[in-house]
Amino acid sequence: MLEFNTSPAFRSALGHALKLSYPDLLRSAESVIARQTAMRRDFYERNRVRLYHGHAKFLDAHTLEVRSGQKTEPTILTADAFVIACGSHPFRPRDIDFNHPHLFDSDTLLSMSTTPRSILIYGAGVIGCEYASIFRNMGCKVDLVDTRAQLLSFLDDEIAHALSYHLRDQGVMIRHNEEYEAVEGLPDGVVMSFKSGKRIKADVLLWANGRTGNTANMGLEDLGVVPNSRGQIKVDENYRTALPHIYAVAT
Ligand SMILES: Cc1cc2nc3c(=O)[nH]c(=O)nc-3n(C[C@H](O)[C@H](O)[C@H](O)COP(=O)(O)OP(=O)(O)OC[C@H]3O[C@@H](n4cnc5c(N)ncnc54)[C@H](O)[C@@H]3O)c2cc1C
Repeated sequence: MLEFNTSPAFRSALGHALKLSYPDLLRSAESVIARQTAMRRDFYERNRVRLYHGHAKFLDAHTLEVRSGQKTEPTILTADAFVIACGSHPFRPRDIDFNHPHLFDSDTLLSMSTTPRSILIYGAGVIGCEYASIFRNMGCKVDLVDTRAQLLSFLDDEIAHALSYHLRDQGVMIRHNEEYEAVEGLPDGVVMSFKSGKRIKADVLLWANGRTGNTANMGLEDLGVVPNSRGQIKVDENYRTALPHIYAVAT
């Protein structure tokens, strides 16, 4: 869309800029997701991998129970070794009301049914930067708030600087070294106040400041595999947890 809208040839052929709404984008993503899900299901069937749907919990170091919403009796599975790959969910600080209709995290944003005119993105990691570019290209006013001094500091400086340059060139307002103090939900948007004294109002706030591992209620603590406060499990260089037959992958 950016290439189309910045090309004089395409724009003059159409007579105006190409506009896509956020729900249009989500509809397009749904068809990609459906294709990917079907493809993976085929891989499992072809390789005779059995799938059990439900919530898995360790009963002991070699036994899992899998409870599905529809079934009352859990399925019991035993194995010599396990890989925990339970993914993550957005980290939500207690002082922010995520029930407010203008406040989203990186999971709930996938059900936003409108295209905001302005969006404040708190957290300039991979997810925050990606959404800043997406929403700016849809014509939204974007404020991207970084709690650090440089975007994606795990990258080479040259790449991080190029990313900053291109986001700014697109019109994203990047604010570094800012930490929120309070979030106030209004009928028509959200105001975030910062420790620096700044206040920014936007139609929508996207909270993109970290994710927490889905390791709660898996019976791990009883095995001595204790996740930290962000739900992460400590592993060695071979991804083994405190129990050598239980592996965990980072997400
Ligand atoms: C907004 C966003 C954008 C991203 N963009 C990209 C990108 O462009 N490129 C990229 O490479 N990566 C991207 N990622 C990262 C990517 O999604 C993750 O790295 C990837 O999904 C991790 O795969 P996973 O299988 O480990 O975890 P997940 O995909 O999270 O899958 C974990 C699964 O385990 C299930 N589960 C959890 N607990 C239990 C339990 N107790 N019992 C049974 N099942 C359980 C969950 O329901 C889930 O289905 C993005 C992530 C986010 C949030």
